[in-house]
Amino acid sequence: MNSTPTIRKTAEDLRVTPNFSDYEGERHRFSWAAAAAELGEEEGRINIASKAVDRHVAAGFADKPALRFLARHTSRQTLTYGQLAAQTNQFCNVLRSLGVAKGDRVFILTGRIPELYIALLGSLKFGAVVSPLFSAFGPEPIITRVNLGGATVLVTTDALFERKVGPWRARMPTLKHVLLVGEDGAPTCGPGNLDLPQLLSGASDSFDLPTTGPEDPALLHFTSGTTGTPKGAVHVHGAAVTHWVTGRYALDLHPEDSYWCTADPGWVTGTSYGIIAPLLHGVTSVVDREEFDAERWYSILRDESVSVWYTAPTAIRMLMRAGADVAAKYAFPHLRFIASVGEPLNPEAVCWGKDVLGLPIHDNWWQTETGGIMIANTPAFDIKPGSMGRPLPGVDAAIIQRTGDGGVNIVDEPGKQGELALRRGWPSMFRTYLNEDARYRKCFVGDWYLTGDLARRDADGYYWFVGRADDVIKSAGHLIGPFEVESALMEHPAVAEAGVIGKPDPVLGETIKAFISLNKGFEPDEALRMELLGHARKRLGAAVAPKEIAFVAHLPHTRSGKIMRRLLKARELGLAEGDTSTLEGAE
Ligand code: ATP
Ligand code: MG
Repeated sequence: MNSTPTIRKTAEDLRVTPNFSDYEGERHRFSWAAAAAELGEEEGRINIASKAVDRHVAAGFADKPALRFLARHTSRQTLTYGQLAAQTNQFCNVLRSLGVAKGDRVFILTGRIPELYIALLGSLKFGAVVSPLFSAFGPEPIITRVNLGGATVLVTTDALFERKVGPWRARMPTLKHVLLVGEDGAPTCGPGNLDLPQLLSGASDSFDLPTTGPEDPALLHFTSGTTGTPKGAVHVHGAAVTHWVTGRYALDLHPEDSYWCTADPGWVTGTSYGIIAPLLHGVTSVVDREEFDAERWYSILRDESVSVWYTAPTAIRMLMRAGADVAAKYAFPHLRFIASVGEPLNPEAVCWGKDVLGLPIHDNWWQTETGGIMIANTPAFDIKPGSMGRPLPGVDAAIIQRTGDGGVNIVDEPGKQGELALRRGWPSMFRTYLNEDARYRKCFVGDWYLTGDLARRDADGYYWFVGRADDVIKSAGHLIGPFEVESALMEHPAVAEAGVIGKPDPVLGETIKAFISLNKGFEPDEALRMELLGHARKRLGAAVAPKEIAFVAHLPHTRSGKIMRRLLKARELGLAEGDTSTLEGAE
């Protein structure tokens, strides 16, 4: 592991003075209390939205563009920090006029339109707890979440309401107000629904903040549902300190950046890093309302002069699959930093970034539960392709093994596999799983939060993802992480994406089966199957290589872009598919 070649960044790659250059020194100097004070948390008061929006207006940046909305059929729309401050105030006044109280839950079900951002930040400013949902959800996932969260307000569009909410409204008894945005002009409001743009335009644009403190609930995010039914993670206003600090260290945000996070706010990444962190840093963020399209994405990177780009491995693999010739038509002179999250980033993808975009991709690791980036490749040290990087300042990570008596042992030995754990105490740590507090408490042993992911740490302090504890395959006495096998398969030029599962076997415990989607120009025939089996055996050894390979057009993914291995497994073994509410393409 330590012999892995590193990617050394050149001064040209960095282009600005990075925020973070002295890893050890900064970790040593860092304290969350000092960071909170620097962001302006005072006398136990902090509000995510006022730090993200109003603070910049007070500092004289009211005219600076905060959000730039792009859509295929409408022209570019910009909201400045000043407009965002005024319109979030109006949203607060709308909530107040409806009798909404601090702590009430506001759910948002819209595409990436300006009202999503206004409602989300407005709810935070008001002191309501806000939960953005994927607009592609069908009625059942919406009903489950609205009921689990006890939502009193739903912000949605007239078209989404008609298709996904209206006929089932009686099944959501907590819902008192539905605020509609018209998809095509003024919304068509049935009885009991309100016209949000009309309410906003009639509301005052000044609002006295209710006091929120660092421990007040702010956001409710559902996990991706990769390993089972999504859990509702509750986050607090103090989380802003983590968003701000990690935007500085892991994304290297500078105020002059044009920044693009490709995640939808329905996934925690799209809120923590698509809304909060960039606004806290006063940058201009690009929001694309459309879905993935390689040519479109390259043109956004070019035309919006994107300088910092935060995306996901699946998107990078789709760009790789589209071919380097597509990328070659574009130039990205402003791009200076690329990061990725959500799944392991195979070394091939890191290097593809360097070859095709001219920059390596910085993988980082975190979870819905951690609320913000915890482990990252940063400007402060070289990248080891395939590694998640090192814990950020303020984050103490460890590899642990659970002991039989409910305790944990910390594994000091480099290279040894165990569960990834984080020392509790960072501000964006979730405060509970909604309605599942016992499950929440079970995630902690003493001071440690146990993440459910298996990893190794090398002698240089870099962390290497092995797999989710639930996905690890036990074969002939070996513990095999799917990522290791998938990553080896993806080194082969024919393989676009691979998902690996364990199948029960009477002799070996489990055998490995790989599902593979192919790159353009490759045929899924017997010869290629044999070649890939041989390639895997050579790379991994017979014990770890897959015994079976199946070619598929596409692997099942969550809406946040993760391979749903549990679904591959259920389908292979003829078992119940379980919760598929977050399956991409399902409604
Ligand atoms: P669920 O908890 O519902 O099964 P999920 O864990 O996929 O879904 P998220 O919170 O969106 O929901 O994802 C966090 C998980 O994603 C991590 O625990 C880890 O397994 C994986 N992950 C995130 N970033 C990385 C990364 N850089 N490398 C490897 N795995 C990652
Ligand atoms: Mg999880």
